[in-house]
Amino acid sequence: MTGASRGIGLAITKHMSARGWHVYATARSAADLHVLDELPNVYSIQLDITDRAAVADLYLHLPPRLDAVVNNAGIIVQGPVESVALDDLSRLLEVNVTAQIAVVQAVLPQLRAARGRVVFMSSVSGLITMPSTGAYSASKYALESLADALRMELRPWGIPVSLIEPGPTRTDMWGDALDDYDRMTSGLSPAHRELYASHLVGTRKLLGRMQKLAGDPAKVVSAVDRALTSRRPKRRYRCDNVSRAQLAFLAVTPTSVSDAVFAAATTSK
Ligand code: NDP
Repeated sequence: MTGASRGIGLAITKHMSARGWHVYATARSAADLHVLDELPNVYSIQLDITDRAAVADLYLHLPPRLDAVVNNAGIIVQGPVESVALDDLSRLLEVNVTAQIAVVQAVLPQLRAARGRVVFMSSVSGLITMPSTGAYSASKYALESLADALRMELRPWGIPVSLIEPGPTRTDMWGDALDDYDRMTSGLSPAHRELYASHLVGTRKLLGRMQKLAGDPAKVVSAVDRALTSRRPKRRYRCDNVSRAQLAFLAVTPTSVSDAVFAAATTSK
């Protein structure tokens, strides 16, 4: 279980350990590792998933047979594509894509030994792209594609691969969304701030409204539980009605119309 220090990852860790699973939970800070060690059936592992050497050694901290890996750790980078700092984009893709695969590669021998499962924390943003979250969406779309390939490739060993696709969920990621957005805005060049002025205001308003809609992490935990325990785990788990409605709308709407709707929703009049 990666990214177990807080948010969805901590909620999954608490839930699965309370169900009697032995959870090998990764976190980065000593304080978070200490909190995890206090939980019953939880064994903390210090891991930054972008640290290649540490990921390669992950197997040393795990049992020889592993029932599942839950790739949950993730970050978000916001802002218009024209202005996104390229180092931030690279870091986002490193954390949300490359490091996820690094973890899976590292633990596959132990998963194979147990006919275990792979679970990826994607997002509804892996299926829908909105203005100002293009970078984050790109990372989740990439994860969706890699998970699809992996699922077909791992069939010979009977290792299921599931994607969890939550919509906005009440965690630090959403709690900090407006502060992050303001930090991003103040980091823009004056030219970009002027060019995107109405978009920046409109998107901030939308973020504020979406923040209020953010759902309970328990829905995501329940989807992960099903991915881990169902006899036939699904390929994809949607977690909330807001996302289902958005996807249903997109399924019957020409791109020209949905582009106009999303652009209007993120522009200040
Ligand atoms: P939080 O910001 O609350 O938690 C993020 C977690 O990822 C933390 O445990 C953090 O560790 C960890 N993490 C970040 N970078 C690294 C890294 N380099 N190495 C190891 N761990 C790292 O986010 P959420 O709980 O909301 O998000 C969890 C997952 O769910 C993410 O993949 C996110 O994209 C996805 N998701 C979230 C949604 C939401 O609305 N909240 C909606 C859809 C998907 P640390 O505490 O050390 O920073």
